[in-house]
Amino acid sequence: RLITPARQSVQEEAQERALRPKLLEEYVGQEKARGQLSIFIEAARRRREALDHVLLFGPPGLGKTTLAHIVARELGVNLKQTSGPVLERAGDLAAMLTNLEPHDVLFIDEIHRLSPVVEEILYPALEDYQLDIMIGEGPAARSVKLDLPPFTLVGATTRAGMLTNPLRDRFGIVARLEFYTPQELTLIVTRSAQLLDVTIDEEGAFEIARRARGTPRIANRLLRRVRDYAEVRHGGQVSREVADAALTMLDVDHAGLDLMDRKLLSAVIEKFGGGPVGLDNVAAAIGESPDTIEDVLEPYLIQQGLLQRTPRGRMATALAYQHFGLPGVTASGE
Ligand code: ADP
Repeated sequence: RLITPARQSVQEEAQERALRPKLLEEYVGQEKARGQLSIFIEAARRRREALDHVLLFGPPGLGKTTLAHIVARELGVNLKQTSGPVLERAGDLAAMLTNLEPHDVLFIDEIHRLSPVVEEILYPALEDYQLDIMIGEGPAARSVKLDLPPFTLVGATTRAGMLTNPLRDRFGIVARLEFYTPQELTLIVTRSAQLLDVTIDEEGAFEIARRARGTPRIANRLLRRVRDYAEVRHGGQVSREVADAALTMLDVDHAGLDLMDRKLLSAVIEKFGGGPVGLDNVAAAIGESPDTIEDVLEPYLIQQGLLQRTPRGRMATALAYQHFGLPGVTASGE
């Protein structure tokens, strides 16, 4: 479970924070999102207004949280952070909203998991900076209206399709984060290595980068493990050979797939004749939740052309067969 651990440790979160770029110009890649944001941030700053609400979507580890922090820093305001599942009651959100200073950023991670009652009170807050809540219960209940300071909501989600339409419509800026190229990830690995004081050459950095599933979080995680290996076996120097040996030991194959990726693909091929097979059936076959498959595993496999999502279910592509050194194409000949 190197690439898809169920939960990050507190220690790893702290390490991750230390590697986060703090300014837009240090943020590698994502030209489109970065370009859009830099213009809108500059305009909001000049007009001394709150930035329009921002929705960031894309698979985990691509830099949504990092970007939210950068937006706040570039605007010169505070960031308050929470997440969809944490905001259980309307009051939880009301407390956060009433604590904001003018133009602050409120970052809600996993915004697709907000409960409907919380989402209800978010609408007027986003639209008119108004809070409209019920206090008390039964006959004594009354509705209270409060003015909020102008603020910016930055919402992050792994799947924009899971948002309700009224919520999605309230974001003026919508940015989709893409998987990073090996070249972009090489820059990220090199920068992280400097911060962690790891001696690595360009080929070593590239080897980690190209096997990191297009994801900065995974690249940084692999770098830390490769460093351990290099320190114990090779006096701390990371070359291409050392990186390759360490990654192979970690069960990351040459295409950068980990055990779970391979388990998913080989289940589709071996247990379901290459597909099409429904998500729930694959999930049961590999003992993984359908959500993890959709949010974490599939996007990269699809982007790499190893897996296809069709109306009838998931199918392994010819490339997936090749990956396992298997002859032939899928049953239906696709
Ligand atoms: P998400 O919120 O999308 O799951 P994060 O913002 O937590 O992802 O990013 C995970 C880690 O990857 C961060 O700690 C950061 O160090 C690194 N990272 C993400 N995006 C970039 C980037 N564009 N440039 C450099 N490092 C990045």
